[in-house]
Amino acid sequence: MSYTALYRRYRPDNFSGLVGQTHIARILAVAVSRGNFVHAYLFCGPRGTGKTSAARILARAINCQNPQPDGNPCDNCPSCLRVKEGGSMDIIEIDGASNRGIDEIRDLRERVKYSPAQEKYKIYIIDEVHMLTNDAFNAILKTLEEPPAHVIFIFATTAPHKLPLTVLSRCQRFDFRRIGEPEIKDHLLNIAAAEQISIKDDAAALIAKKADGGMRDAVSLLDQCAGAADGPIDTDAVSALLGIVDRSFILKLRDHLLDGDISAILVDVNQLILSGKDLRQAVVDLCETLRDGLLAKLADEKASSYPVSVWLKRLSALADTDNKLRYAASPRITMELALIKACDIKETPPPPINLDSTRTAFSAAQTPAPTTDTDKSKFKKTKSVYAQSQAGHSTALPPNSGDIGGQTRQPITTGATSGAKDLATLWPSILKRIEKLNTSTFFRVENCRPIQNCADELLLEFPLDRPGDVTYVMENIDQRATLDAAIFQVCGKKYRLQARLGDFNAPIEEADEVLPSAPVFDESDGETEQKTLF
Ligand SMILES: [Zn+2]
Repeated sequence: MSYTALYRRYRPDNFSGLVGQTHIARILAVAVSRGNFVHAYLFCGPRGTGKTSAARILARAINCQNPQPDGNPCDNCPSCLRVKEGGSMDIIEIDGASNRGIDEIRDLRERVKYSPAQEKYKIYIIDEVHMLTNDAFNAILKTLEEPPAHVIFIFATTAPHKLPLTVLSRCQRFDFRRIGEPEIKDHLLNIAAAEQISIKDDAAALIAKKADGGMRDAVSLLDQCAGAADGPIDTDAVSALLGIVDRSFILKLRDHLLDGDISAILVDVNQLILSGKDLRQAVVDLCETLRDGLLAKLADEKASSYPVSVWLKRLSALADTDNKLRYAASPRITMELALIKACDIKETPPPPINLDSTRTAFSAAQTPAPTTDTDKSKFKKTKSVYAQSQAGHSTALPPNSGDIGGQTRQPITTGATSGAKDLATLWPSILKRIEKLNTSTFFRVENCRPIQNCADELLLEFPLDRPGDVTYVMENIDQRATLDAAIFQVCGKKYRLQARLGDFNAPIEEADEVLPSAPVFDESDGETEQKTLF
């Protein structure tokens, strides 16, 4: 005997069985019990929410010769029996998606004027009606304008906005909702009990969650799990089938994200990629835990030690990553970028900078860095003061000279330089090499300005708003090693590395196409990284 998919076997066959759509079932049942019908119904809503099932039940109930007081079809009258035994001649289903309905609609135009063969009404159920061609719509519209008394249309669509207004305005519209997780879960457990499928409660809840409001998907997932499982279906089995990342891992990643711990995040991403899990699914799960955390915090201040703004920033920065990953040439880089950006580095107070050089006498720790929005105005003043103090290396522009957005940064060479190719000219190649070796280093230095102080020393100027990067790059052994290696590979010799914060409102010579553009420090929106990283 051939296997019938669970979702077919457990399709609802009366209004009471329409899980999650009681608001619609009630209205339709009342209409049936009163014999009160319109000529066109429109069922809209996401896939798998019961539109087609509801259309079939309604069609059966309309033609039932003995409808029940609650509006449900009787299942025993000749009309009900005809449907049960393979379909009634007067209930015609057309799939708008299959051949776009041209032939069937042409046929419909001819036959719609004849009375029903056996039943009270001739009922056309047109699924995915938005897929019909314009010609087909025009044909339907002609009928809708002057509908014969014995004809009823039931349209179903996931995209009502694609229907012509002339059709929409002639229908009684019902909007099917996504079905709630508890309702889906209960339904799954009922089916499992009837089918003697052993499934744990939390596994059913997980399927319900992943089905995103669609009952058909949920039941299909249950079907697949039952087929794959030996023993009771648990969350591990469901996770494996869906490529879901372990929840404890997602929570760990979430905590690293909240802490802004970029090195830990990069390790996590690496682990994800090595495990071969679906990155998009991981991002979706991560966003869900962030959303849960945000809602908990909003409901109860004591729910977490992180302020609402941190939850909100992390979540909104990641909200679109799932989509970006779909088209990403390098999912790893897209994922890393999104997570780093979500950390909103500016927000963490910079640790004191302790450089190993005496030449870079300037200490960023003495300069108040922008830590919060209120600090930014203070920071604005500091910026121009600092620019003047750095005039020895670069001439500061007057404060009103505007920002340098859109222009590119030019390497500066001062003091003694060696030979034909100095280090500043080689910087673009060095950057490329760094990107290959270690993306995390690359993100931190890509906006740096290289200055060659003398034959064997490279001074990296970091943007004023990135003091954390100076410390990180200079004090982290891996980061330093990456820089040293990249420089050595390109230049064939070692350089002594220095770093400091620099003001880039300095004279810009001619544009250099290879170097990335400078960040625009904008006090108003704080979206600096976004402009440069993406
Ligand atoms: Zn009946």
